[in-house]
Amino acid sequence: MAEKKTHKVTLIPGDGIGPEVTQAVVRILEATGVKWEWERFAAGAEAFEIFGEYIPADLSDSITRNKVALKGPVTTPIGGGFKSINVTLRKQFDLFANFRPIKNLPGLDSKWPGVDLIIVRENTEGEYVGLEHEVVPGVVESIKVITEKGSTRIAKFAFEYARKHGRKKIHSIHKANIMKLSDGLFLRCARKVSEGFPEIFYGEHIIDNTCMQLVMNPYQYDTLLLENLYGDIVSDLCAAFVGGLGLVPGANLGAECAIFEAVHGSAPDIAGKDLANPTALLQSAILMLHHLDETEAANKLQKALETVYAERKCLTRDVGGTCGTTQFADAVLAAMETDTSL
Ligand code: NAD
Repeated sequence: MAEKKTHKVTLIPGDGIGPEVTQAVVRILEATGVKWEWERFAAGAEAFEIFGEYIPADLSDSITRNKVALKGPVTTPIGGGFKSINVTLRKQFDLFANFRPIKNLPGLDSKWPGVDLIIVRENTEGEYVGLEHEVVPGVVESIKVITEKGSTRIAKFAFEYARKHGRKKIHSIHKANIMKLSDGLFLRCARKVSEGFPEIFYGEHIIDNTCMQLVMNPYQYDTLLLENLYGDIVSDLCAAFVGGLGLVPGANLGAECAIFEAVHGSAPDIAGKDLANPTALLQSAILMLHHLDETEAANKLQKALETVYAERKCLTRDVGGTCGTTQFADAVLAAMETDTSL
């Protein structure tokens, strides 16, 4: 039998709850039977203290080499300080598609059971280009950049994903009534791409109405295609349908590299207390396993996770349980061990 491949993956534990959830997820990944070699790096304020760089050159080299990274959240200073490490990494590796599936897990009571939404967020443009300056004291300009290239490739990503996975509908979410040129361009590109996918319904909704529509009836949507900022906001809104930020995974995907990370941030309010829910990063790791063609391990992990949720014996506090991060990870490991079906 052929020797199992070892996957070299860049690991960025991040800060806040990052190291706790990352440690839990790595422990679980090590028990899947897949062989891993982790290249671990600090990023952000912690990296700056040690190396004098927010994104050390060795970290960038590691991602370039491995093409795959698993990342915990990194804190970004508010209203000043260094540039977001998360945004910088996405731009540096041209990870233009931010893919965020929103799906209920079993065992969690929800006002919205059976939600199954895909969020496709453009990841490199919009308000996140970081072009801000003070024109005169008291007047600041912040530039939003939307390009034909960026809008077309994210629309293609959404439609190709929808075709491959049998999704039925895509809605572009916009504010082209106000930002007529920028959001107008985004829409024109999406419409053009949609013509090549006649089997997929294509619709357009204005962002403010969309937020209301989502909360009234999330089932009316299937796949949402959004610019960077709208995608960021709507992701957190949609996380609430399935139990909150502790659950929702994400993948930053480009032509060359991929960085898998949860939607949530560093959660300073619960950091260092063994309270964080590692599910969001674990589900991101499942996306990573699929990306690495480790389908059997991905399915095994998904099943173990669903067993732990269905049993409701060991859940973290954010979803109504009393367990800590470590105990939850232990429960997933135990569910994997007792699964004899694989
Ligand atoms: P946050 O996502 O960190 O937290 C929002 C709320 O959700 C908090 O109440 C938190 O306790 C809860 N929460 C988040 N993740 C959880 C988990 N795994 N388990 C249980 N509860 C969880 O958002 P924030 O407070 O607005 O941001 C904090 C910092 O994180 C900021 O510096 C922000 O810039 C950064 N951030 C980083 C990323 C990233 O690294 N990709 C993403 C978003 C925010």
